[in-house]
Amino acid sequence: MLSPRQLFLQHQAQTTDFPLLLEVEKAEGVYMYGPAGQRYLDMISGIGVSNVGHRHPRVLQAIHEQLDKYLHLMVYGEIVQAPPAQLAHALAQTLPEGLDNVYFVSSGSEAVEGACKLAKRFTGRTELIAFNNAYHGSTQGSLSLNGSENFKRAFRPLLPDVRHIRHNQLEDLDQITSRTAAVILETVQGEAGVRVPTKEYLQALRQRCTEVGALLVLDEIQSGFGRTGTFWAFEHFNIVPDILTCAKGMGGGMPIGAFISRQEIMHSLKNDPMLGHITTFGGHPVSCAASLATLRVIQEEGLLAQVEAKANRFKERLVHPAVREIRNLGLMMAVEFDSFDTLKRIIDKAILKGVLTDWFLFCDNSMRIAPPLTITFPEIDTACDLVLEAIVEEVG
Ligand code: PMP
Repeated sequence: MLSPRQLFLQHQAQTTDFPLLLEVEKAEGVYMYGPAGQRYLDMISGIGVSNVGHRHPRVLQAIHEQLDKYLHLMVYGEIVQAPPAQLAHALAQTLPEGLDNVYFVSSGSEAVEGACKLAKRFTGRTELIAFNNAYHGSTQGSLSLNGSENFKRAFRPLLPDVRHIRHNQLEDLDQITSRTAAVILETVQGEAGVRVPTKEYLQALRQRCTEVGALLVLDEIQSGFGRTGTFWAFEHFNIVPDILTCAKGMGGGMPIGAFISRQEIMHSLKNDPMLGHITTFGGHPVSCAASLATLRVIQEEGLLAQVEAKANRFKERLVHPAVREIRNLGLMMAVEFDSFDTLKRIIDKAILKGVLTDWFLFCDNSMRIAPPLTITFPEIDTACDLVLEAIVEEVG
């Protein structure tokens, strides 16, 4: 009998030269457990997914209750089902007035696809503007928006009429014109290594979009659902998007995504020709039930109020000459070292010590720190101690 690790290597498509190869049998709260009982502090939350921790009891309960009723019934939007309807309502209540129409999908990439189709349909324009080093997904439309040429080269031709401008550069805003259907921006760039734009920039971007009639799409797939200390990251900047995309942390560990907009914009999807967007699994009742429970946990367990203090604790503790910079908004953090080589050695050593960290797709000298928001201060101290030990052993 081959072990799961052997089967994984033989039969599961490999997508990286550096798979973590960590075998996990169980996960609970901020911990993952290996088959021999090894315990790992999870500092990445499945890339911003387990914001309320692994297997949060309220999320599990909501899933169980839905399992006893029904699983899938019908493609999205045909049958009235309580979980998506109640989740859409709850999401609208977290958002500024008017952003109350939700289209559920099953992943982040799909949410971005839907948002871009919606913007094109509503404006009747075709140009999409995205940013250098942006990450919006892996399907061909969302891939077209990514700001790293290395990821796109092999797959061209991609979407036409996509233009990239520099992130956080006021001078580039005049490239957004009355030809532009939408500008899509990660409120905080994730895979670029946590790049936080200035408030001045985001407000000017918002204003420019309004002036030329382009829709502003904020991608909060990584920064949403409490990750930065507010429910949505855009709340830090006092701006409101026309379309919002979310996924990842939204499901509390279940697959779900959404794009959200105002009624008058969303309605353009159902106008001639009919059925502007179709999905079989979008709004899956089990995922919606899990998502509603996740939203309630974030709201009712006081998680948001502690995010900044927890982030500050990491910053106070992770002090070492090899740490060049820490960038963050809340618990979306990047710890920068001099090179990928150094970082990779530290990450590998930290795993042996029982702490799981990672790097970023477009920023391979920075360590990703994005633990469950439920992490306690003692757990933060332990994680920092172990990462520091790994740093000292690898670089002195
Ligand atoms: N947008 C952002 C900002 C992301 O971080 C990601 C995933 N890393 C995506 C979109 C794509 O999400 P998914 O992998 O669920 O398709």
